Amino acid sequence: MKKVALITGASRGIGAATAKEFAASGYNIVINYNQSAEEAKNLARQIEQDFNTECLCVKADVSNEEEVKRMVDKVITKFNRVDVLVNNAGIAIDTTLEDKTKDNFLKILEVNLVGMFLVSKAVGKILLEQQSGKIINISSTNAIDTEYVYSLDYDASKAGVISLTKNLAKAYAPYVNVNTVAPGWVNTSMNKELDKEYISNECKKILLNRFAQPAEIAKVIRFLASDEASYINGTIIRVDGGVNNE
Ligand code: NAP
Repeated sequence: MKKVALITGASRGIGAATAKEFAASGYNIVINYNQSAEEAKNLARQIEQDFNTECLCVKADVSNEEEVKRMVDKVITKFNRVDVLVNNAGIAIDTTLEDKTKDNFLKILEVNLVGMFLVSKAVGKILLEQQSGKIINISSTNAIDTEYVYSLDYDASKAGVISLTKNLAKAYAPYVNVNTVAPGWVNTSMNKELDKEYISNECKKILLNRFAQPAEIAKVIRFLASDEASYINGTIIRVDGGVNNE
């Protein structure tokens, strides 16, 4: 029987690349999205065509507990199991410190951190019953380096992800490995507003001198879900091309 990977925020970017990566590795896939129904459905069609696998698309706002519960029920009804959870859904609202608002700060925390908690809790229960599974949480190097005041709310949410990961690893031991991937800059729509000069300056701070492609993050996520990573637990893996300190 094929294993099942549930990926939140999989309609595009890192989540979509992760869905493809798991499908290529023989998993059935659950593509979660909140707003981008067309993108999610097109991706599901493409994956089913390219790989001999089944895809379930589920709309759910990860920060809405009822929607999360309904999503997990649908997954169990369809596949009767879930083996891997990739908590990838995330948002950023970059502004000057002056323009930051309580509402936006709370929105970011709700999606990036509370949403991760809600999905982990709902899926974690099943993984514990199965006495096996993997959870991979997507943080960011911003959680550790905090270089950009413009994203201080986002950075705080991503720092929370690291703490959540360590606690969940304890809560679900010894059955479920829970780890964090912390990407640096990645070429996705999250960064579509950045101008060329800014990107060029940021690339100078990266030893590989470029942003990552989403697939380069997806491969690390898939590795963490594999048997090869069976002894990696409760930790953070940076995938940032190397920091240029000069
Ligand atoms: P992206 O292209 O903007 O994609 C974000 C995904 O999250 C979309 O599929 C979006 O789907 C989904 N999403 C947003 N709010 C949601 C909600 N409330 N419920 C369910 N899904 C929701 O971003 P990305 O760059 O691929 O980022 C993916 C993850 O990597 C995020 O957690 C991000 O913080 C992290 N990350 C990104 C970078 C980077 O440089 N790009 C670096 C470090 C970490 P809908 O449109 O359907 O809502």
